[in-house]
Amino acid sequence: MTNALDILTLRAGYGAINVLWDVSLSVETGKTTVIVGPNGAGKTTLLRAIMGLVPATSGDIRVDGQSRKAMKTWDRVADGLVMIPEGRMIFPDMTVEDNLMMGAFPPGCRREWKRNKAMVMDMFPRLAERRGQIAGTLSGGEAQMLAIGRGLMEQPRVCLIDEPSLGLAPVVVDEIFRILARLRAEGLTILLVEQNTSRALKIADHVHLMQSGKVVLSERGDRVDLERLHALYFAHE
Ligand code: ATP
Repeated sequence: MTNALDILTLRAGYGAINVLWDVSLSVETGKTTVIVGPNGAGKTTLLRAIMGLVPATSGDIRVDGQSRKAMKTWDRVADGLVMIPEGRMIFPDMTVEDNLMMGAFPPGCRREWKRNKAMVMDMFPRLAERRGQIAGTLSGGEAQMLAIGRGLMEQPRVCLIDEPSLGLAPVVVDEIFRILARLRAEGLTILLVEQNTSRALKIADHVHLMQSGKVVLSERGDRVDLERLHALYFAHE
């Protein structure tokens, strides 16, 4: 089967500062692929490069086998690459419902917004209860749910999720991981960046460890040698 997403010897960075050094990895359709690694390893930069928010200087980004490297970010979104960024980035002055509607903006999603909104409300009853509430007044966990819900409104072919558990209380982290497990079970294709390695591994079909802008370990989720992973993880700290 063609992979949903292939990253091929990708280099990217910020102006003269190169961050990603020939990163290669694939995201299988319908599976959850997890990227772990310490602060500054380049995980967020990789997601931003996939979206075209950071320019790729060499290598390629392919969706269903087709190069997307030359595409504008907006066109990548319309094509089904959806990023749920670290820090949620919801619109704080808008209601929950209006935030969700912002996710229905890509052309192909407008027709389906009613069905998609019903699906999101069903998945997140808390958002349904708070549909008229101003998003800036939500708790951290609710805001993360809203960010995920808005991403789902964009009908992702591949959903890139950056550190969804960051800054949340343990019981809320449990809830976020339950949601991720459900999305995985429903066959959503997910590329998840997480620092919470032990939690992320429980829902990972494939795992990649990044260090200093490189992928230094790639394993199937059920074959990860935790000791080796941790030894590598802390090797450069
Ligand atoms: P974290 O978990 O801390 O977000 P990360 O693995 O996601 O870590 P990145 O945020 O991708 O790492 O950062 C990788 C490197 O790129 C770091 O050295 C960082 O300082 C640098 N970097 C990130 N954003 C910028 C920027 N806007 N301009 C210049 N350098 C940046």
